[in-house]
Amino acid sequence: MHLSAQPLARELYTCPICIAGKWEPSRGRAEILENPASGAPVTVVPSCTPEEVQAAIEAAEVAFASWRDVPVVNRARVLFRYRQLLEEHIDELAGLVTLENGKTLEEARGSVRRGIEAVEFACGVPTLMMGETLENIATGIDSWTLRQPLGVCVGIPPFNFPAMVPLWMFPLALACGNTFVFKPSNKVPRTGVRLVELLYEAGLPAGVISVVHGEREVVDVLLRDPRVKAVSFVGSSPVAKYVYETASANGKRVQALGGAKNYAVVLPDCDLQAAVRGLIGSAFGTAGERCLATSVVVAVGEVADPLIRALREAADSLRLGAGTDPETDVGPVISKAHRDRILHYIELGQREGATLVRDGRNPQPHDASTGYYVGPTLFDHVRPGMQIAGDEIFGPVLAIMRAKDLDQATEIVNRSPYGNATAIYTTSGAAARSFVSRVEAGMVGVNVGVPAPMAFLPFAGWKGSFYGDLHAHGKDAIRFYTETKVVTSRWNP
Ligand code: NAD
Repeated sequence: MHLSAQPLARELYTCPICIAGKWEPSRGRAEILENPASGAPVTVVPSCTPEEVQAAIEAAEVAFASWRDVPVVNRARVLFRYRQLLEEHIDELAGLVTLENGKTLEEARGSVRRGIEAVEFACGVPTLMMGETLENIATGIDSWTLRQPLGVCVGIPPFNFPAMVPLWMFPLALACGNTFVFKPSNKVPRTGVRLVELLYEAGLPAGVISVVHGEREVVDVLLRDPRVKAVSFVGSSPVAKYVYETASANGKRVQALGGAKNYAVVLPDCDLQAAVRGLIGSAFGTAGERCLATSVVVAVGEVADPLIRALREAADSLRLGAGTDPETDVGPVISKAHRDRILHYIELGQREGATLVRDGRNPQPHDASTGYYVGPTLFDHVRPGMQIAGDEIFGPVLAIMRAKDLDQATEIVNRSPYGNATAIYTTSGAAARSFVSRVEAGMVGVNVGVPAPMAFLPFAGWKGSFYGDLHAHGKDAIRFYTETKVVTSRWNP
């Protein structure tokens, strides 16, 4: 199907805030956001005043008193209707994601689909929230556990998945009986507004979710307010660490998913064509702006030279252009500033002595669009200690390192301070099993380039990629958004 975000691109839209179920303009200072595919201004995003953020928290706190007592099946019914509305609006939502983030409409649609799966998981909340019971722990005494909502929860997502990551957060939190203050990424706020409009259309009572906009100053109010009980954050590691430390010091439960530098190991016995397909999709899909993107390949033994030749050939065939063009494989990156940062890393890689096999600077988009593009870039002979081997670049830049065997390759992977995702390409079950067992990462692919867990499994990394205990979605998230109460009762006959 041909999808188009063009009608939206012509208007300059101002993002409203939502307090007590009412949409209104913010009084805070405003910033203009551009369509990354063209550089044209498309959205005005405000930075809320502290009073607006406090009013948003207050509204969620007030709504909690009644929402927590809405029968769990009725809460689930709101989500069933929400799921249906998201399905009906999937093309519109994908168009918004492409308009503000830049990824292709196909990628945007896929990401909204993953978000819908998180809503589907949340629809199962009556079963998921069940506690445990043990009869007769002593004569006439029974024990059972209840899972109860926490109160006001907060969601702070990143720019790279404007629909999917927010949908990991508020549907499940609300299903569990919490209320919510949602601060979309200030780089892609428009999709988030639309997600909440649809949620109210699905029948959510007024005030159960508030929407505010902004960055550090707004986040600081949310992290310190005593009425906020839990914070779900996804973004870069320095901010994840800050959010974790500040919110936990203020007595809140926190899950803070951070940045990544994902390594894939390629063994000589792999199916080379399949490995190249997986690596190209993982490294250059969504223009490399994905926390699960492969950004370093560790090529083991004699596979290195044929692998690099095949990667280069496949990268040459990718077409850059606006995400709205169905012929496009790689869309723009989010902004001029981010493009410049990626270009800086390409220069740095050359200065560090890596071999630039494919240079993505000065790309030629096939549709002559004038936005913020970086072409697929490949470096060979990257060595441990180089910044391009260690820093998260978050763009279409793939570094290739060489190792003599699987042990050395695993050691290279484990030396990273990050531990989000990794992958191995091999036809050996024993090699794959050894790697899966020893590698230090939260999400592992075996012949799978983007090992994204589905909504019913936990999603997060290890080490510097995650601050907290309970991961996003899956049963971990049910535990995160609820408090356990143990009841011990005696009823003598
Ligand atoms: P970011 O850390 O700049 O921003 C994330 C959120 O925090 C946004 O809502 C932003 O408005 C807010 N924010 C930014 N600076 C802040 C500050 N100083 N204090 C408080 N809040 C602040 O991240 P980003 O650039 O939007 O997203 C890209 C990053 O997200 C990458 O590092 C990527 O790896 C990571 N990410 C991780 C996962 C994961 O599952 N681990 C998933 C998606 C993205």
